[in-house]
Amino acid sequence: MSKIVLASGNAGKVREINDLLANHGIEVVPQTAYDIPEAVEDGLTFVENALKKARHAAKLTGLPAIADDSGIEVDALNHAPGIYSARYSGEGANDQRNNEKMLKELEGVEEAKRSARYQCVMVFMRDADDPTPIIAQGSFEGRILTAPRGEGGFGYDPIFWIPEQNCAAAELSLEAKNKISHRAIALNRLVEKLTQAGIVK
Ligand code: IMP
Repeated sequence: MSKIVLASGNAGKVREINDLLANHGIEVVPQTAYDIPEAVEDGLTFVENALKKARHAAKLTGLPAIADDSGIEVDALNHAPGIYSARYSGEGANDQRNNEKMLKELEGVEEAKRSARYQCVMVFMRDADDPTPIIAQGSFEGRILTAPRGEGGFGYDPIFWIPEQNCAAAELSLEAKNKISHRAIALNRLVEKLTQAGIVK
């Protein structure tokens, strides 16, 4: 079974990606297993940041690498916070503060104008110098609520309403969310492209 390094230490992401790639004879190993420090995410797009993370992990392990970058864009905020989603509330940012800031910014904005989506870009690089990385994107449409709901998920999930499911993302089970999320869509598309390119079977 060949190995690919995942430029993340997030256990949930490792499990999700391994689940999909195990059928293709690929084992995904988190970069934390190689003691690799996190890459500097100073790109201006999800694509640039994902490539930076993958290149960094490939360079330090000598293995092919997969990386993702994700965030939320809110139409009424001109697509903010986007790539800055994790750091939205500034110094000492955490999920609760980020949610509070977003609810405040959207105070008085009517329901029809609260459209938002999660975005995820997943990339694969054969090595750190790969000039043709494989790039896949997935998005997940919703709307920002006026107050948090639900106990599950992470990040903006308590204030992210999914009209098709009639609930907040934080009210979905992990399994249900992992089937329809921006990450799942991007990952499935990436695996499809890797298969087409003959990189995985
Ligand atoms: P990263 O891709 O791990 O850098 O995550 C970026 C940030 O986007 C997270 O810290 C969250 O704030 C937000 N985010 C990305 N995906 C999700 C999701 O599925 N639910 C909630 N928040 C998310």
